[in-house]
Amino acid sequence: MMAERLPGILPDLDDHDAMEVTAIHSLAAVGDATIALKRRPCFESPHHSATLPAMIGGGSALLRPGAASRAHRGVLFLDEAPEYDPRVLNSLRQPLESGKVVIDRAFGSAAYPARFQLVLAANPCPCGKASGKGLDCTCTPVMRRRYFGRLSGPLLDRVDIQFQVERVSLADFGQDSTRESSATVGARVIEARRRQSERLSHLGLATNAEVPGRSLRGKLRLPPATTRILDTSLERGILTARGYDRVLRLAWTLADLGREDRPGADHIGLALGLRQAMVAA
Ligand SMILES: [Zn+2]
Repeated sequence: MMAERLPGILPDLDDHDAMEVTAIHSLAAVGDATIALKRRPCFESPHHSATLPAMIGGGSALLRPGAASRAHRGVLFLDEAPEYDPRVLNSLRQPLESGKVVIDRAFGSAAYPARFQLVLAANPCPCGKASGKGLDCTCTPVMRRRYFGRLSGPLLDRVDIQFQVERVSLADFGQDSTRESSATVGARVIEARRRQSERLSHLGLATNAEVPGRSLRGKLRLPPATTRILDTSLERGILTARGYDRVLRLAWTLADLGREDRPGADHIGLALGLRQAMVAA
C-alpha cells in the first residue's frame, strides 16, 4: 500500500520528462495512437512471473520498452521480490546505475530511458508468517536464508533504504491523528526537489539520484569531519565504493527535506542507518 502511494507524493513531470514518458508508453502500446500526455509519475508493478523482455524490454520484430522503461521517472514496484527470476532481478542493475536499458538482438539494438524509483517488498520468510511473535511460521532458518538469498548482494547494494515493517496491531489501526496526507508530504518533496535542481542546474542535473560519484566527491565534497563514519565504514569493508556514493546521495536528500544547505554528520549517520537496517535485523 505504501509503494502504491509513492507516486502520489512525487511532483508532476516537467515538459521534457512528460514527453519522454509518453513516448515510451506510446512505443510500448503499439497501435494505440490515443495516449494522452503523461503529466504524473507512472506506477508499474509487473507480476513475479515477469520474463526478461517483460521487465527490461524486447520482442521479436520491434524492440518494445519493458516495465522498467514504462516506470521511467516513476515507481517500479516488485511485490514478493524474492519470487522473481533472479536473472530478471539482476537485469535491473544496469538501469539502476545508468538510468537506461540497452537491448541487444541479432537484428539490432535499442536504448530506452529507465530512471525509476525501485521498491522491493518481501515477506519476512517464505510462508509469510514470521512477523510479530511469528508463532505460526514453519520455515527453518535455512529456508529463510535461501529465500532472501535470491536477492543478490549486488542488487541490494543498489537499494538505498531498507527497513522492516512491523505487523499493524489493532490498537494502531484507525489511529488517524498523527498521520500526514500525501498532499502535505508532497509539498515537502516539491520543496526538496526545488533545492536539488537549483543546486545541480550548473551540472545539467535535476535530482540527487543522478549526481555522478566524481561530483559527490569533487565539487560537492563534504568536510572530513562530516563523512568520518562513512570513511571508516569503507575502510573496514562494511560499505562498498558504490554504497559510499549512494549514502552521500541519500544524505543530500535528507538535508534537502530538512531545508539545510548541506548534509551534516547526523544526515550521513541517518542515511547509513537506513541503508543497513535489514543487515542489522
Ligand atoms: Zn515462515
